[in-house]
Amino acid sequence: MISRASVQPQRHSIGKVVTQMSNMEQDRWSRVKGRLRSTVGEDVYSSWFARMDLESLQEESVHLSVPTRFLKSWIQAHYAERVLACWQAEMPAVHRIDLTVRSAMRCAVPAKESPAAIDARREHGDGRTTADLRTSATAPVSASHDALGGSPLDPRLTFASFVTGRSNTLAHAAARQVAEGRRGDSVMFNPLYIHAGVGLGKTHLLQAVTWAGNAGTERKVLYLTAEKFMYGFVAALKTQTALAFKEALRGIDVLVIDDLQFLQGKSTQAEFCHTLNALIDAGRQVVIAADRPPSDLESLDDRVRSRLAGGLVVEMGSLGEDLRLGILRSRVEAARTHHATFDVPHAVLDYLAKAITHNGRDLEGAINRLLAHSKLNAQPVTLEMAEREVRDLIRPQEPKRIKIEDIQRVVARQYNVSRSDLLSSRRTANVVRPRQVAMYLAKTLTLRSLPEIGRRFGGRDHTTVLHAVRKIEALVSKDATLSDEVELLKRQLQD
Ligand code: ADP
Ligand code: MG
Repeated sequence: MISRASVQPQRHSIGKVVTQMSNMEQDRWSRVKGRLRSTVGEDVYSSWFARMDLESLQEESVHLSVPTRFLKSWIQAHYAERVLACWQAEMPAVHRIDLTVRSAMRCAVPAKESPAAIDARREHGDGRTTADLRTSATAPVSASHDALGGSPLDPRLTFASFVTGRSNTLAHAAARQVAEGRRGDSVMFNPLYIHAGVGLGKTHLLQAVTWAGNAGTERKVLYLTAEKFMYGFVAALKTQTALAFKEALRGIDVLVIDDLQFLQGKSTQAEFCHTLNALIDAGRQVVIAADRPPSDLESLDDRVRSRLAGGLVVEMGSLGEDLRLGILRSRVEAARTHHATFDVPHAVLDYLAKAITHNGRDLEGAINRLLAHSKLNAQPVTLEMAEREVRDLIRPQEPKRIKIEDIQRVVARQYNVSRSDLLSSRRTANVVRPRQVAMYLAKTLTLRSLPEIGRRFGGRDHTTVLHAVRKIEALVSKDATLSDEVELLKRQLQD
């Protein structure tokens, strides 16, 4: 068992929680840590559990926190049961452990200091607590962030660690431009709307804009997930401070909203629309990310959609092999600032870049595993180890996300008509058939609903789409030429 003195310093905890924690709870926590230490051994304990803090303790559940996502997922994957068992030995009623990442970093950072520097200092533990960082933060940024409930920022997601390649050059350049603007500068494109699939760097780029924008300038950049926007607003309504909330939001120079596809609800949308209009009309910059283009945000009404499409809309494509290699390198570099002996041979990086093709999250996960494995077993990283460790991250190629525009473009080309012919109300045979084929493909190759497809084909009714789909289905089964044409179109779209 370990002495009180050695567990006393709760340096990383959020101050309030610790002071509210009773002596009895602290004693329990010390004893649990003692048990953990003796079951896993000193080395493992200090690698994984030394920075775990008790946030709160209830009858049946315990809330613990760690400083990084990586620690969290590692502990969850490998030690969840042992942690629970240690608590149960102390308090049999406990049957749930909540483990979260401490997110006191937010934007509450002294203006001149880079997030990377702060991260390094925090990781090396120079004695300043996250609570210190909070109180020493520059007033305007933290005040607005607190009032509006800005979403937590990850200090690693900066421009410095963002790797550019063919698929993201334009998005990166636009984001940089936004981040470098000054208060009062005229805004070049508004909103800047970035869309891409999962794990392709949207959040990274948006947080980079936020960090860069808040560093050293007098501008206020607020980063919110759409969910935060919703809950912030709903909560503010409940406490009847909606007006104050609106006022505060309108005092923002750059509003950054992530994952807009999650914005739901009529009143939230109305408020979002007002906010967007107010900010844009006042010449403030709005930056948005979503997993699809504005036209595909089906739950938003037309006005909002067209406002969103009125700025610069940029898509980030899938990560090419060079980009994947670059991201892997940058991850290894980042890991080496804390684990100097960690090294990944070029052949292994090459293998990973070729094998893990899906998204940045899996690349990050792969490096985390290699780091954990080599650290835990004190072994250098080898190709063999990599192949074993990342096997489950290598998935077969997912089918491509096909867009209605692509279908229209390819069909129009095939039948030698224009895309606007397909969308028009013309009813001549040379347009009607291609239009029906395109609707049929839209229904079979995308997840769009019939009304949505109708809307995207010049505002037609869903029954028209249904008729087209049935018609082509029937024809394909008896008309070999049409059947071949449809197959050919499918192949063109899927490759
Ligand atoms: P999204 O928000 O689009 O789902 P994220 O921004 O969360 O994706 O990216 C997933 C992971 O991949 C993160 O760890 C991120 O840092 C990394 N990543 C993605 N694109 C890049 C890039 N261009 N440069 C560096 N890291 C990247
Ligand atoms: Mg994201």
